[in-house]
Amino acid sequence: MEKLIITVAPNGAQATRQHNPNLPLTPEEIADSIYESWKAGAAIGHVHVRDVMGENTMDLSVYQEVIDRVQEKCDIILNLTTAGGLEPTEEERLRVCELNPEMATFDAGTMNFGSGVFYNTPDFLERLAAETQQRNIKPEIEAFDVGMISNAMRIAKKGLIDEPFHFQFVLGVAGGMPATPKNLMHMAESIPAGSTWSAIGTSKDQLTINTMSILLGGHVRVGMEDSVYFRKGELAETNAQFVTRIVELAQTLGREIATPDEAREILKLKTSNLNKVGRRA
Ligand code: ZN
Repeated sequence: MEKLIITVAPNGAQATRQHNPNLPLTPEEIADSIYESWKAGAAIGHVHVRDVMGENTMDLSVYQEVIDRVQEKCDIILNLTTAGGLEPTEEERLRVCELNPEMATFDAGTMNFGSGVFYNTPDFLERLAAETQQRNIKPEIEAFDVGMISNAMRIAKKGLIDEPFHFQFVLGVAGGMPATPKNLMHMAESIPAGSTWSAIGTSKDQLTINTMSILLGGHVRVGMEDSVYFRKGELAETNAQFVTRIVELAQTLGREIATPDEAREILKLKTSNLNKVGRRA
């Protein structure tokens, strides 16, 4: 099995300090949390940013500050969200690509999301795919349901997403596929040969889905975006705590951990973006 790529998602768009007082919110807190997670073994940091009130923002200067602070300290791969909650406009979402990250999320379909709707129309997805392709940004194809895999492949057929594809299966969101072992197996069996994949189990299902991913040869994402609890009844103190648990688990199960450079190789990232991250043309 190839080495295990651990992504850390330190805050996301939904969690607040009411859910967990340890949630990183400022650029400094987010960058520090990503750095600590890198020290623990994470190869990718998935970035959402907040404004001074702690609300979601798509302000590129805030992303920029996180990028700068992280890059000063370590070589972790940065994967910027192009969603940022359910409110941002399509234009705001597309603009994130101007920061030329090595990776960006590509949410492969529209769905109910909790009590809201997460819009990812066919036209928007084609524009986002084209934008990432043109800038050599690796799209992380987030699939909340098995139909989203076909959505992404329809766009790939138009020549807008390059192989090898990388999927992130997001299981357990209200409105998406439930986080069950059978569903994860089905997702993993439904992607084109030669693709890589990682999986997220939200809330109480984080560790179960992570463990299955390690065993099945997938990769994992952890962090307070997916669960503010470390285990039942115990709030997470840090994001690095989740990473450390996965590293120990992977060692027990005989799977080695990928460094950021090894992850770049596994995911076939275009290294040309490494020195361009955060630099707007
Ligand atoms: Zn996210």
